[in-house]
Amino acid sequence: MSEAWRPRGWRRVVQGLRGLWLTTCLALVALPASAAEVDNVRLWAAPDHARLVFDLSTVAEAEVFMLNNPRRLVIDLEESGLNTDLARLDLSGSAITEVRSGIRNGTGLRVVLELSREIEPRHFTLPPNDQYGHRLVVDMEYPGESAVENPIDPIEAMIRDQEITAERARRDGTSGAAAAAAAAVSQAQPHPKRDIIIAIDAGHGGEDPGAIGPSGTREKDVVMEIARRLQRLVDDTQGFRAVMIRDGDYYIGLRQRTRIAREQKADFFVSIHADAFTSPRPNGSSVYALSQRGATSETAQWLAASENRADLIGGVDGNLSLSDKDEVLRGVLLDLTMTATLNDSLSIGGQVLDQLGRVNRLHKSRVEQAGFMVLKSPDIPSLLIETGFISNPGEERRLRDGGYQHELAQAVFGGLREHFRRNPPPASLLAWQRDNQRNTAGNEYRIQPGDTLSQIAARHGVPVAQLKQANELNGDVIRVGQVLRIPRS
Ligand SMILES: [Zn+2]
Repeated sequence: MSEAWRPRGWRRVVQGLRGLWLTTCLALVALPASAAEVDNVRLWAAPDHARLVFDLSTVAEAEVFMLNNPRRLVIDLEESGLNTDLARLDLSGSAITEVRSGIRNGTGLRVVLELSREIEPRHFTLPPNDQYGHRLVVDMEYPGESAVENPIDPIEAMIRDQEITAERARRDGTSGAAAAAAAAVSQAQPHPKRDIIIAIDAGHGGEDPGAIGPSGTREKDVVMEIARRLQRLVDDTQGFRAVMIRDGDYYIGLRQRTRIAREQKADFFVSIHADAFTSPRPNGSSVYALSQRGATSETAQWLAASENRADLIGGVDGNLSLSDKDEVLRGVLLDLTMTATLNDSLSIGGQVLDQLGRVNRLHKSRVEQAGFMVLKSPDIPSLLIETGFISNPGEERRLRDGGYQHELAQAVFGGLREHFRRNPPPASLLAWQRDNQRNTAGNEYRIQPGDTLSQIAARHGVPVAQLKQANELNGDVIRVGQVLRIPRS
């Protein structure tokens, strides 16, 4: 990352100086730092952290440290002045109760934040982008509320689950299969009829506006609108529940977005975006799934690179650490899970694309694939939806329209509901409904938790012995999910 922050001509300068004396070289590189002005300060308040961004006229060295009694954070900027009114900063929803500033050592700027709670600070600088110039970013993470603080690595969690299951079986002195059978024959738990959990990720946020339309529409705002409409549709439908990955105007790291989805036990993850291109012409919706190999098209690759760049704007993100786990186990698990997950993603993507095609032109008529960071959950089917091109003036206008946002949300939900209706996850209400339909439809019965042979026999008016004979059952052991033939009595 430091590579990217070097001045552009660095390499050329170094090459050009190769023949010169070292002393000359040092004298040329060690130019005095020019004074920086703080032109503006922005605050983004998230549930688990606050982010303070200083807009600087040029790069400035910063020192950030905590002081106690009372608890406060000090930000010292060398050779800097203040060119904005800190009192205008809206502190609501953050841990900052007051901001003060002063001159330090004659030429430096000191900013002091009074804090209402314990924080863990970190800071970094960002180079200029399309929207902002040089920036100093100060993050204040709230211990105990951040997923970053206790990162759940998806693959490590899978390995841990397997270890726990194995350990339990060892302790009970039974094999896993025998334990499952024993659990099934006794009066098992009633069907949980749980909700299918849809994790909705509105792309970008906070310091990262995403793409910006010709008349100034910001991607982070329209995708939030669409995400909220989708949330309402999901929550209003029996058997489904929505979880919002970000619930306000703040940035969340791309890996943390997938971590939150996992923590919330999501069955599906959908990231909502609106794209921009260098020319105003391209338009239409597209649906993307992860690619384990290369991108399916150049556009897909270009898009993935531009969406993944969000972390450079939004801030630094944690990395998966898998170093001390067994390589082979990890590889096998990841491969198996990824393939199954990807198949589900492509299936859901097809349904969503189908529905989107009814409300908008499709930019690509099939589900595209590329290495989007936000889709890298090994065990949660995930899609990224580019609802349209915000860089196209007509589409920008439509994306701002509430009615159109609703149609897009309906299309996305219509597609995923269709998939889950056909393939309900185990223990979900939809699975229970499907099995019930099947049970009443034919002369077969799928065993539900809580069933016993005598109950099933009684319900179908068949003697137990006849039921056992028809299904070649020797004992009374039946298992959940087993399909019994119901003989005519
Ligand atoms: Zn985006």
